[in-house]
Amino acid sequence: MEILKKLNIESINQGACTGADQWSHGKDLGELESFNPVNEQLIAKVKRASAQDYEHVVQTAHKTFLEWRKVPAPKRGELVRQMGEVLRKNKDALGSLVSLEMGKSKQEGDGEVQEMIDMADFAVGQARMLYGLTMHSERPEHRMYEQWHPLGVIGVISAFNFPVAVWAWNAFIAAICGNTVIWKPSSKTPLCAVAVQHLCNQVMQANGYSGIFNLFISDDNLLVDNLVNDHRVPLISFTGSTAVGRKVNEKVASRLGRCLLELGGNNAIIVDETANLDLAMRAIAFGAAGTAGQRCTTTRRLFVQETIHDDLLKRLVQIYKQLRIGDPLEAGVLVGPLVDRKAVNDYKKTIEEIHAMKGEIVFGGNVLKREGFFVEPTIVRAKPDWAVVHRETFAPILYVMKYQKIEEAIAWHNAVPQGLSSAMFTNHVQHSEMFLSAAGSDCGIANINIGTSGAEIGGAFGGEKETGGGREAGSDSWKAYMRRQTNTINWGNTLPLAQGIKFEV
Ligand code: NAD
Repeated sequence: MEILKKLNIESINQGACTGADQWSHGKDLGELESFNPVNEQLIAKVKRASAQDYEHVVQTAHKTFLEWRKVPAPKRGELVRQMGEVLRKNKDALGSLVSLEMGKSKQEGDGEVQEMIDMADFAVGQARMLYGLTMHSERPEHRMYEQWHPLGVIGVISAFNFPVAVWAWNAFIAAICGNTVIWKPSSKTPLCAVAVQHLCNQVMQANGYSGIFNLFISDDNLLVDNLVNDHRVPLISFTGSTAVGRKVNEKVASRLGRCLLELGGNNAIIVDETANLDLAMRAIAFGAAGTAGQRCTTTRRLFVQETIHDDLLKRLVQIYKQLRIGDPLEAGVLVGPLVDRKAVNDYKKTIEEIHAMKGEIVFGGNVLKREGFFVEPTIVRAKPDWAVVHRETFAPILYVMKYQKIEEAIAWHNAVPQGLSSAMFTNHVQHSEMFLSAAGSDCGIANINIGTSGAEIGGAFGGEKETGGGREAGSDSWKAYMRRQTNTINWGNTLPLAQGIKFEV
């Protein structure tokens, strides 16, 4: 296949790498298979990395860190700039591979690579802006300031649904900060990771490096624990489900390491009686059915003011009828498959629960009778207190609920354990201000007249409560990858103590 050739994907690939020509050489643990979710056919295999591979990767990453941290930050930015260039050249092929292996539409696959390019551009600028504050010392002839130093080797464990962009959010910022990175990608999308590592190798080699961007592919969680429990890895950035993130966090916390968590979401849109429904409908359809409901920011709950509820629901069903489901690499297809059989079973289980509660499925609710992991985008008339409504089912199921007063909608909106993304469609200034106030949305992201999914990289991305509290990508997220040092310098000839304490000998 042309895409695979362009990205150096072989029929059997190696599962660990520290640079050009430095692929695995550990014990043979067999192969991990990657399937096309459209037809369940094998795309290619990856040799599982071993414990010896991990040891080699972490030692190389650490050794490289000791030198990389001394390189001036703007020079580190230059290497990331070159990563942006290589990604630009390979955008079409890598976007297609994302689409092929994960199942999102080609548009969204390309969009994900664009997000990596945007992150590279952002990181290049950030490399010149790793600012610390200066403070006025309370003591004469003293100077006080803070500076930011790199942490060391950063472990990045990523989810299947953003098989390349999440790595870039972490890796590019971590690298300009002076860290090196070990990536443990999802075992459902190993080929995307192998392809990205080949691009990293090109850039590292052209600059005389190896060991800045490293790869470690394993579906053996005990082996992944070598990374999670490793004192040589001061920060683990974990993106994935709340259940797994909780376990990883406990392990990292027990060694007093740092964890950056980007976990599950259960995102809602509130549509009030003043909303521009044309805008709202498009945002709801993209948010709920796009990526087959497999975004952390997917719209899963919809609260609609009672006077517009029936009209909105009717229009939404019309839109859902037109959504083209199929092979995501085909032009015009908007909804691809779920990632695997387990995801289809999770969808089925939730639909059965809805039936058992005598819930009304307004649209969809079926697994498609064809090869691959296809399900119908589904709309359910729901109640805010249903257990299924409070849970993230990683599939295109949208719960629609009617409200009377805006206060009631906001209270229901916040009544779930997750706190990632939220949105309100309104032209009522009091409603929007209420939603964005401290007493409004409790999420890390709150939008007005924009849906819940499709964030720009310039802002800090992440959520509260069981979403884990992490922030990545833009704004001052870079601080998570650095340690802060406060420096006080006495340039005088006396030794005054802080708080006026006297200690005269
Ligand atoms: P997952 O939790 O199953 O897997 C995430 C990663 O953890 C993968 O690399 C996986 O191989 C690894 N893993 C699995 N079990 C492990 C264990 N016991 N120890 C260590 N690592 C382990 O999640 P997923 O199905 O890949 O992704 C979907 C989930 O990720 C959803 O809940 C979604 O909301 C969330 N997500 C969150 C964000 C965010 O930014 N908040 C972004 C993308 C996805």
